[in-house]
Amino acid sequence: MSARYRSVLIFGAPGVGKGTQGKLLGMVPGFCHLSTGDIFRSLDPESETGRVFRTYSARGELVPDEFTIRLWREHVRKLIETGRYEPQRQLLILDGIPRSAAQAQQMAGDIEVLQILHLVAGDEQVLLERMQRRAHRENRHDDADAAVIRNRWSVYNRETLPVLEHYGEERCVEIDAIGSPGRVLLDILRAVVPIHEERFGNALEG
Ligand code: ADP
Repeated sequence: MSARYRSVLIFGAPGVGKGTQGKLLGMVPGFCHLSTGDIFRSLDPESETGRVFRTYSARGELVPDEFTIRLWREHVRKLIETGRYEPQRQLLILDGIPRSAAQAQQMAGDIEVLQILHLVAGDEQVLLERMQRRAHRENRHDDADAAVIRNRWSVYNRETLPVLEHYGEERCVEIDAIGSPGRVLLDILRAVVPIHEERFGNALEG
């Protein structure tokens, strides 16, 4: 078996700011951000895969595991081939995957999860408003409808939260997601930079 990708999960309820933080972190040398939501949204909507995605996301449901993981593996392979992800130098920041305990099990041979950054926000109303604003700005139809958002939260509670149990509390760091993006990023960097230093040594210097 080839070496597993050394990874950190960016984790939290829909709307909590995983994408924003993941993108910021992905600009720092040594970190490669990968979001399954972004992969899905970049599919041609008229293609078979694009249609499958839309069917599920329009209801706030998860796309089936086998389909999701296959697409994810292909995407990682492409990133490596094109030099956009260098497993020997970069920590993989996973946003949106694994999204259920079953996905975590199926990906056990692909990723070594070193830490989980759990972004936490107490106020659902704040999240709801954030998501509806973003829906219009970013053309995200899945976030425009309050009923769909509420369904995404219940899917999160039911299917995604068990991922934390799967990996165990010791690997989990809670990050307060209410605050300016810079403040949240600072807390995230405090958690992940030492991991990069410990696991990759001076790989960035070469
Ligand atoms: P958010 O970041 O707002 O939580 P995403 O952009 O990650 O949402 O995901 C949008 C939609 O894409 C999800 O509602 C789901 O339908 C689908 N999706 C993304 N990642 C996965 C996954 N790992 N497994 C199944 N479905 C997924």
